[in-house]
Amino acid sequence: MNFVSTRGGGDPVSFSEAFAQGLAPDGGLYVPDHLPLLPTDLLIDDAEPYPVLAWDFLSMFATDHDSDSMMELVDKSYGDFSDTMSAPLQQLAFNVFSLELFHGPTLAFKDFGLQLVGNLFEEQIKKTGESINVFGATSGDTGSAAIHGLADKEGVNVFILYPEGRISELQERQMTCTEAENIFPIPIKGSFDDAQRIVKELMGDLEFKEKLRLSAVNSINIARILAQSVYYVHAYMQLSQDDRDNINFIVPTGNFGNVFAGWLVNQMGLPVDRFTVATNQNDILFNLFNTGEYNLGDVSPSVAPSMDIQVASNFERFLYYHDEKDTDRVVDQMARFKKDGKLKISNFERSNFSAVRCDDKEILANIKRAKADYDYVVDPHTACGMAGIDPEKTNVILATASPAKFPDVIKKAIGETPTNKTLEALKKKEIVNYPVDATSDAIRAFLEKNAI
Ligand SMILES: *Cc1c(COP(=O)(O)O)cnc(C)c1O
Repeated sequence: MNFVSTRGGGDPVSFSEAFAQGLAPDGGLYVPDHLPLLPTDLLIDDAEPYPVLAWDFLSMFATDHDSDSMMELVDKSYGDFSDTMSAPLQQLAFNVFSLELFHGPTLAFKDFGLQLVGNLFEEQIKKTGESINVFGATSGDTGSAAIHGLADKEGVNVFILYPEGRISELQERQMTCTEAENIFPIPIKGSFDDAQRIVKELMGDLEFKEKLRLSAVNSINIARILAQSVYYVHAYMQLSQDDRDNINFIVPTGNFGNVFAGWLVNQMGLPVDRFTVATNQNDILFNLFNTGEYNLGDVSPSVAPSMDIQVASNFERFLYYHDEKDTDRVVDQMARFKKDGKLKISNFERSNFSAVRCDDKEILANIKRAKADYDYVVDPHTACGMAGIDPEKTNVILATASPAKFPDVIKKAIGETPTNKTLEALKKKEIVNYPVDATSDAIRAFLEKNAI
């Protein structure tokens, strides 16, 4: 199995190479050169232990790994999740389920991708003997999950930009209270998109990227996407046979990584009727799936900050399949989008996607409703998903973060403050961060100085 760029440039590369590069050299995103069919026994068996399923699935793509090294990777990555199912499915009503993706170390679904990524980096450093500098931007959860996956690992320094004041206190503490010397959390004045733009610009400077041996962790990394595909299969396997028809996966969405991971495994044969993209008031994707127009606006800070995104980077991967792998067309569309800040996709086919949106008021109302109807506490991101429940379908809402990460919003909605022991402990530690001006020159200089 090889990986190719959505923009058609460069040579096909192996899984390890696609992982190490993050962004393809032509600025495109890596996708598998073909999609294997899911083995049918995966679809009829009952749920297998999570690491075993991850091993089965990832082995189809990481064909440059032998089965022992793959088993070691998935064991290290998922062995210590607090729930032995890793991604347990909770039934909330007869046709409403919550797929809890917050039992990893930083209490959000991003641990699934980034625990694996941390271990892949470790493997790469051992193999090549070369240190690396991980560089990324976060809207809150990516940074904490990446940092947790890499803190104190040999041969790697981690630089994460985040929009100051726009992530929750506990997210910030998960990044800044690690006491690890290889971790550099960088608050900038601006939005997540500003941070991501700087990262893309510096990563696009290939000379600089090579000189500092920069690697990405943001959700464009194909290893993260594939790691996330696994829990869609895991969710399916936890449903009873009767519930397996007519599935509506409802996915709180920002960068389009999570929902794309599900759609990809659907293309491989996982029977799914619909993917509902749930956005907050930053509703570029809601509009896109309803009109075929992709219009950039300004980021509007919401109570679901990990989805405060306008440029949904992973959408390019869907576009690649939408355009039937016509990479020239993808190049043209991405260039127009970059230039005009908007794109009208001609003959737009939304596949089996649909979309809903929630503003802050609706998010609070949905948290209240989940408590009243299901006696269940949802975090503000998951609350957006509540808007996508269809009484005619088996609804599986992806619970992307623990409510404990957003205590203030939960308190406001239902008067309760969720607690979590790990998070309480963090509050006692000192915050260490490195404020830098939000320009690519300033960030470039900081990296030059602190890279390993
Ligand atoms: C990152 C994140 C999202 C958005 O996921 P994407 O893959 O960027 O679409 C939703 N909810 C939470 C809690 C997140 O951390």
